[in-house]
Amino acid sequence: MPKKTIADVDVANKTVLMRVDFNVPLDEQGEITDDRRIRMALPSIESVLQRNGRLILMSHLGRPDGTGYQKEFSLRPAAVRLSEILDRPVALAADVGGDDTRAKAATLQPGEVLLLENLRFDKREQKGDREFAQSLASLADIYCNDAFGTCHRKDASMVAVPEAMAGKPRISGFLVAKEIQYLSDVLAQPERPFVAILGGAKVSDKIGVIRNLLTICDRVLIGGAMAYTFELARGGKVGGSKVEPDKVELAQELLAAGGEKLVLPVDTHCGDDFRSDCRKKIVAAGRIPDGFQGLDIGPDTARRFTEILKTARTVVWNGPMGVFEMPPFDAGTKAVAQAIAEGDSISIIGGGDSAAAIEQLGYADMVTHVSTGGGASLAMLEGEKFAAVELLDEK
Ligand code: ADP
Ligand code: MG
Repeated sequence: MPKKTIADVDVANKTVLMRVDFNVPLDEQGEITDDRRIRMALPSIESVLQRNGRLILMSHLGRPDGTGYQKEFSLRPAAVRLSEILDRPVALAADVGGDDTRAKAATLQPGEVLLLENLRFDKREQKGDREFAQSLASLADIYCNDAFGTCHRKDASMVAVPEAMAGKPRISGFLVAKEIQYLSDVLAQPERPFVAILGGAKVSDKIGVIRNLLTICDRVLIGGAMAYTFELARGGKVGGSKVEPDKVELAQELLAAGGEKLVLPVDTHCGDDFRSDCRKKIVAAGRIPDGFQGLDIGPDTARRFTEILKTARTVVWNGPMGVFEMPPFDAGTKAVAQAIAEGDSISIIGGGDSAAAIEQLGYADMVTHVSTGGGASLAMLEGEKFAAVELLDEK
């Protein structure tokens, strides 16, 4: 069921409490090195301000102790940057729901913005504390969640705050709405054939995703280092490849559950060292000699995966096919990215490194959706229901 968004509610002269993800990277001088997360929240922020709403923003930043204000985790740099981008003042409260928050919220005018200090300065945030939540909930008429990267968590600002605002509008921001549309709604009723392609470092990170996608996809293609754990499970030789011996049994289980649906590599590009200029060899899958390790899918596999991806109507991709940071072992990942970009399927890219790879290769604009949440996207692909999303108003 689609959720109501910020566009669906009248915000004029009302106070909107919006959870955003301003968890931006800072350098040693406390300067923001990448403000993408702030920019991504702009459509929701501007939607409130342009319609004369009063806007109170809240976010966490990094991992403070939870014992109060710590300068190095202050959201001040985010307030300054947001003010530059919006070209209007952004007030910063010195606390999170305390006296200064109340004083500044009381004088906030329509079209003005107030950013609260780092939610995690108060340890009650991550405990989902109700009293803490109440101090925030009482500030506003409308709750808006636009922090997708935190949607799989049960922090107070994500769950207890909107719970305390029951009866008032509780809606999603545009960023969260888009993530739900692709990672949840599209996957619930995919156009078929529906193909998932999974790679990356470890099987253990993606067990839940493989399990869930095996139940809803027509094909699940496996690449990356995790293919070698599956290869071990089939009795193959993996040389010095990165494997998880304690996950072999689980891989056997997944192989049995997946049957024909699960497609493993047929060949491997391996090297005698973890370096670009190592001695290289292309071997059949499960025939990696001692002294060599698998570093990418081989060319036959890339061709096979490309063929399957070409006929797909919906594609989900998570995890690179090889060590894409180290050419020529980026070839498999490139081939897959290109096949997805050039196909006309609905294509959804989840995961930090896969998103980085598609960006780096210049294909990001040619896919339907690149997810912004690492852990949250994985959890959604696992089919997990998020309390923070479930409680939002439906259209
Ligand atoms: P994502 O962030 O997209 O979910 P992961 O974090 O699971 O992806 O995995 C990405 C990492 O996996 C990359 O750093 C890549 O180098 C590594 N990787 C992929 N294939 C191999 C391999 N054959 N051997 C070692 N590392 C690999
Ligand atoms: Mg990663």
